Amino acid sequence: MGREATKKKKMKKNAKSGGFESLGLNPNVFKGIKRKGYKVPTPIQRKTMPLILSGSDVVAMARTGSGKTAAFLVPMLHRLNQHIPQSGVRALILSPTRDLALQTLKFTKELGHFTDLRVSLLVGGDSMESQFEELAQSPDIIIATPGRLMHHLSEVDDMSLRSVEYVVFDEADCLFGMGFAEQLHQILAQLGENRQTLLFSATLPSALAEFAKAGLRDPQLLRLDLETRISPDLKLAFFTLRQEEKYSALLYLIREHIGSDQQTLIFVSTKHHVEFLNLLFREEGIEPSVCYGDMDQDARKIHVSRFRSRKTMLLIVTDVAARGIDIPLLDNVINWDFPPKPKIFVHRVGRAARAGRTGTAYSFVTPEDMAYLLDLHLFLSKPIKPAPTEEEVLQDMEGVLSRCEQAMANRETIYGRFPQKVIDLVSDRVREIIDTSAELELLQRTCKNAFRLYSKTKPLPAKESIRRVKDLPHEGLHPMFMNVLETGELTALAFSEHLKKFRPKQTILEAEGEAAKLKHQQGPSGQWADVMKRKRAIHENIINLVHEQQQSKSNKEKEEIQLEISPSMEKGRKGFISFIVIELCLSLVIVFFSLKSE
Ligand code: AMP
Repeated sequence: MGREATKKKKMKKNAKSGGFESLGLNPNVFKGIKRKGYKVPTPIQRKTMPLILSGSDVVAMARTGSGKTAAFLVPMLHRLNQHIPQSGVRALILSPTRDLALQTLKFTKELGHFTDLRVSLLVGGDSMESQFEELAQSPDIIIATPGRLMHHLSEVDDMSLRSVEYVVFDEADCLFGMGFAEQLHQILAQLGENRQTLLFSATLPSALAEFAKAGLRDPQLLRLDLETRISPDLKLAFFTLRQEEKYSALLYLIREHIGSDQQTLIFVSTKHHVEFLNLLFREEGIEPSVCYGDMDQDARKIHVSRFRSRKTMLLIVTDVAARGIDIPLLDNVINWDFPPKPKIFVHRVGRAARAGRTGTAYSFVTPEDMAYLLDLHLFLSKPIKPAPTEEEVLQDMEGVLSRCEQAMANRETIYGRFPQKVIDLVSDRVREIIDTSAELELLQRTCKNAFRLYSKTKPLPAKESIRRVKDLPHEGLHPMFMNVLETGELTALAFSEHLKKFRPKQTILEAEGEAAKLKHQQGPSGQWADVMKRKRAIHENIINLVHEQQQSKSNKEKEEIQLEISPSMEKGRKGFISFIVIELCLSLVIVFFSLKSE
């Protein structure tokens, strides 16, 4: 099939699939969407946009993080199409806060990049004069907070909203909650009769429902039923870690965290990973069941039936294999490899926490998976937040905890790091198991290659999600581990995270000490800096000694080419260097603690 034909076929498929292509948008709006990096519409966009485009008034229940802004901006841009100098303002977007209005302005400019539509922002905090000037440029769209809009309407006699044909109340519950109700009624009274009205709100309190009845013509109420696709009794835990840390994290979860009476389904990307984990668990004295695509039918039956009769508590599968088997209700799902499509996630976790049972879906998230995590949350219409960092916890433990509780009550997702300390403890054991098994070593290599291939062929996340990852703040330890660690360990973690972010040649304490000296304030940090320097001098001597020994050894080796370093000697040398490094870190932590207590 020719390239042109393939392209046409793809476009036809997209047009049918409810993608942006199927909406019949003006080419300049469609180009704006692609430029912004949206790949497929989010559920709220899929539901609302066709209705809005058909001219209906809409009340949509959608939260920030669901893609609601584009849901009303895209049809607006399509409808306005191009700047008309004498027409007056044709679209009005009301936001409860200046920040939200600014954000909406940014999206309007980005999505409307290929149109010549003019936008004016009327929010408190900016000068009235500059806003008068903007209004004189005959904008097509006004984005405003109600207070400032009313201010303009009362100051300028000939300012009229009669020409407005498209009005949006964004985060309407906040608009009402902030006491703007009276102003909103006044604004509504000034709008023309033949307008389309849209109301977006996370909740629909009764006052708002009344308002909608009065101000909207036969509105369509849209809400997402997606929440029910994932059982409300299912907890979601997202752990950030690196690819090579997954073995340790998995062993820890199975050994220490998940009760031995619970059944868990583990999803991996390839059959080689199934085989690898199967062997690893067996070496650890745990017998799992496994299932993958081209597995022998009889073996598959035996494995699954052992899991069904609870003789095994783990079932390791690939997505393809899981589709074909009848898996009973179970307690937990572990996404060892993060699913590249939101629907696969929903499908995978759908077997847990059903029929009145509770359960947890644990997901490992590598840096490469972050954009997929954002895509998933757009699909679930769920807000997502990073766990508070250790520094934040130490500064305001109470505040942070209550914010976490509130987020969880709102069913927001909090993702956080898997503790390095735990990974370090388990990884030695994992290394040992792999090192002593030739089969595991070989399989590990196969897994790496298979994973590379798998990564190349999986669908890409939305470009916008890839871009958003760059703006995400640093995440703290996952809240699930807060009680595993003691406060002292938290302090040490905060310190080591601080070190990771900033690595000057001097230690932080020395740097602080230098600064203090410069200011002629030889306080406690100055003294500690001296201690650090002395400590560094001692360690440096030892490290130099090791280097010298290494050097003379390598010279010797050059002379006796036949001689091979024995593994135990090599281990001993590595051990010695590790010991020095650990010693150095420990002394840093001790000094830090003492400094804190001063
Ligand atoms: P909102 O709920 O409107 O605040 O949007 C949340 C985030 O999702 C913003 O960064 C949007 O740019 C992004 N977003 C909205 N729609 C899509 C989409 N269809 N694909 C990818 N990202 C989107």
